[in-house]
Amino acid sequence: MRLSTLLGPDLKAVLTRGEEALRAALEDVHAEDIAEIVEDLDVSDATLIMRALPADRAADVVERLPSDRQVAILSALGDVDAAEILVEVDPDDRVDLVQELDEDRRQEVLAALEEREPEVAEEVRELVGYHPETAGGLMTTELVRLGPDTVIADAIAEIRRLSDEDQAETIYYVYVVGYGDRLLGVVSLRDLILARPDHTLSEIMTEKVVTLIPSDHQERVANMMARYDFTALPVVDEHGVLLGLVTVDDVVDVVIEEATEDAQKQGGIVPLEDSYFATNLREFVWKRGSWLVVLFFGQLLTATVMRRYDDLLARTIDLVIFIPLIIATGGNAGSQSSTLIIRGMTLGEISPRDWVRVVAKEISIGLCLGVLLGALGFLRAFLEDAELDAVRLSGSVAISIVAVVTLASVVGSVLPMVLRRFGFDPAVSSTPFIASVVDVMGLMVYFGVATFVLHLAF
Ligand code: ATP
Ligand code: MG
Repeated sequence: MRLSTLLGPDLKAVLTRGEEALRAALEDVHAEDIAEIVEDLDVSDATLIMRALPADRAADVVERLPSDRQVAILSALGDVDAAEILVEVDPDDRVDLVQELDEDRRQEVLAALEEREPEVAEEVRELVGYHPETAGGLMTTELVRLGPDTVIADAIAEIRRLSDEDQAETIYYVYVVGYGDRLLGVVSLRDLILARPDHTLSEIMTEKVVTLIPSDHQERVANMMARYDFTALPVVDEHGVLLGLVTVDDVVDVVIEEATEDAQKQGGIVPLEDSYFATNLREFVWKRGSWLVVLFFGQLLTATVMRRYDDLLARTIDLVIFIPLIIATGGNAGSQSSTLIIRGMTLGEISPRDWVRVVAKEISIGLCLGVLLGALGFLRAFLEDAELDAVRLSGSVAISIVAVVTLASVVGSVLPMVLRRFGFDPAVSSTPFIASVVDVMGLMVYFGVATFVLHLAF
């Protein structure tokens, strides 16, 4: 059960008792839990809570809310209240938030912010220009930057000071900058603590720094972090000037977001903006329906194929009863291949250039699986009390399964690579899409094989 449901009746009572009571009631509640409560309340009650909280606590809560809620609350609060909370919000979240506000509201809030903290307002105006799904949009400017001649003892003192003033998103890395804020090197906290206190940063820093540029897409940011195993990466401009840093906690959110999107695309769904329950009927009908209609038209081809073989089908029911088995088996195998290849491409393990190797591998895998499943299919068909010759019928089923599984594996793997090659998102060759293609192919193979094998029988 959600905490908010538990607190529900009590909370309603407290809400009516005014700010003081509210503040006292929420004193020891973790920001995450308050956020959960605020998420379920209507906006007016939610703003009551936000006003009651001290600005820094309110900021902690705001950071944890979904973005539509953040916007609703910041829009409902007065300019000054909103600006006060914004000052306390982490810079990277702050920019995202301001970006979400509509243009008028954004200017009002920025003006209020300008009055209180001109520097913060200036920084927000700067960062708002970056697309939220890029390194520039993810980065914070609150980091530890020091000159190359700083001695270790001073560096540690400076970290303490910045941390006390809450001006460093992470203290784990110190970035060494020279003239014009050009990034010269990096020193980790471990390096720093282990170094002799009278040494300078330039003596211990790592000079080959792995960096991002502001326009790097978030997926690349995530891949770079995974590859180099740093908990933060610096962002520099084209002249090597240090602009900010992206920390791993923001990247975790990105990874989850991208994985959700891919999972939805692979299921044949246009990615949702919100969570399942927050998505309304109309949106679902559109986002699921658009692909279902496309797939539906694809599936119509199965009727066309069956019509072409109506002679064959009219002669005996024996063939018909194995149709679902054969095409579903093919669809399953094809979906497996496409899932493996799409994931492999997302992780950068496979690229369209590898297609020859992939096809070779899928043919051998497909043949092995096909023979295994074909043998099972043979047994099943053989036990059927059929009108047709048992061996020929079972043979048709078995041969078709081998062929369909192999073909489906190849198509399921090649299609995503072809899409990627031509600049489409490979996740679009979703599991249902592959299944539809394979259904049509499966029917053609099965009827072809059956015609050939059974021809002799008639
Ligand atoms: P620990 O691994 O125990 O957390 P560490 O000092 O090994 O401590 P890491 O984050 O693993 O810390 O960093 C390893 C080294 O890489 C450090 O010497 C650090 O200065 C350096 N480093 C940090 N960030 C970068 C970067 N962006 N590019 C290149 N080197 C970096
Ligand atoms: Mg290490």
